[in-house]
Amino acid sequence: MAEVNKVPVAITAKSASVGPAMPDLRPPTAPESFHVMAKPTGPICNLDCEYCFFLSKEALYPGDRFRMADELLVTYLRQLFEAQESLPEITVTWQGGEPTLMGIAFFRRAVELTEHLRRTNQRVNHTIQTNGTLLTDEWCELLADKNFLVGISIDGPPHLHDHYRVDKRGNPSSDKVLRGLRLLKRHNVDFNILCTVNAANQDHPLEVYRYFRDDLGASFLQFIAIVERDNETGFQEGNRVTERSVDPDAWGRFLISVFDEWLRHDVGKVFISHFDAALASWLGVTPAMCIFGETCGNAVALEHNGDLYSCDHFVEPRYLLGNIVETHMIELMASSQQRAFGIAKRDDLPQYCLDCDVRFACHGECPKNRFGVTPDGDRGLNYLCSGLKAFFDHIDGPMRIMADLLRQGRFADEITETFAAPGRNDPCPCGSGKKAKFCHQR
Ligand code: SF4
Ligand code: SF4
Repeated sequence: MAEVNKVPVAITAKSASVGPAMPDLRPPTAPESFHVMAKPTGPICNLDCEYCFFLSKEALYPGDRFRMADELLVTYLRQLFEAQESLPEITVTWQGGEPTLMGIAFFRRAVELTEHLRRTNQRVNHTIQTNGTLLTDEWCELLADKNFLVGISIDGPPHLHDHYRVDKRGNPSSDKVLRGLRLLKRHNVDFNILCTVNAANQDHPLEVYRYFRDDLGASFLQFIAIVERDNETGFQEGNRVTERSVDPDAWGRFLISVFDEWLRHDVGKVFISHFDAALASWLGVTPAMCIFGETCGNAVALEHNGDLYSCDHFVEPRYLLGNIVETHMIELMASSQQRAFGIAKRDDLPQYCLDCDVRFACHGECPKNRFGVTPDGDRGLNYLCSGLKAFFDHIDGPMRIMADLLRQGRFADEITETFAAPGRNDPCPCGSGKKAKFCHQR
């Protein structure tokens, strides 16, 4: 039987930590740092967004109440902090389903626990991903007070957002989401917008981007391509996608249009995760987005009952690493199963990707989307390939310029002047030899 770790009394006021203690010797294959997306309500959500892959995950736990118990919360946080004890900062991430359904007391308790668990001088970053509909003044006071970074899911202006983001009765959700966002802003809570790009909004990139920037005042944006397999589980069978899924070429056009607008007006003012990741790749640094890393495997998903899965996109029986009540999280992270999962991102690339000019930035994107076939007939090409290729080709010139500026100790936003200035018939400053109006001023 596993030894039960002793934790401070204040932590055990409501219940004891369960599960194994940190092993005396850190497993040599364990990553120094890793990211856990904890789902305290499992896939349960108060909305019914048509494309949400997590709603179907209820079937994994039939009859379950989908609520993280207090003793599991204590166990989870204890293990998370033990496993990353030497780091200067630790990020605690909550998502769902809809994590705010746990109620505010759960998060007060979680924050209190992290205060007991962190080393002196160790910083804790609290983040939560929410649809925003349940936020209140009381919520926002906690989020502001504890410096939470809140990710709020919005797919564009209401007529685009409401296309798929509906409640259980099929009613639009935008009013409630925007009310939540207004509360966040009133309380000065840091937020970023997570926008899924799907069949409904894929052809409106500038309308979507300008709405976030100008109407909502957002400075941090993340775009996520909706790619849903058309089968019962939405997972790993067949290569057809649902009609809600983004079209690969439209995905490329979407990113390109937003990039050109950003390049001329917003570098250094608006931060977009795809562009940040690309700049890191052009600088030869590992990007923060796992999908553009050579390997992955350091971002796992924790279910409400302690089950740990290889990734948020692989919450499937085959990718269950174990349960943290039985095996310490650090051992699951270090397991050969998880290490193999991460390395497969690199080793399973088809030759077509290995020969690709933009592989250094793309790395075949996420394995979840690799169900296409290459022109040579090899399996494993990313469904989004044509769009990704177009996007990375298009940004090559500006990315080289920004990377050079940074290498010289200057600021990347100096590029804005260069690209905002030329006439539409002048040569594009990116060096492509094309007129600006056919290049980065389209
Ligand atoms: S499978 Fe995809 S989302 Fe998951 S860690 Fe790897 S690259 Fe990231
Ligand atoms: S752009 Fe296409 S071919 Fe190139 S690495 Fe990405 S998925 Fe592979």
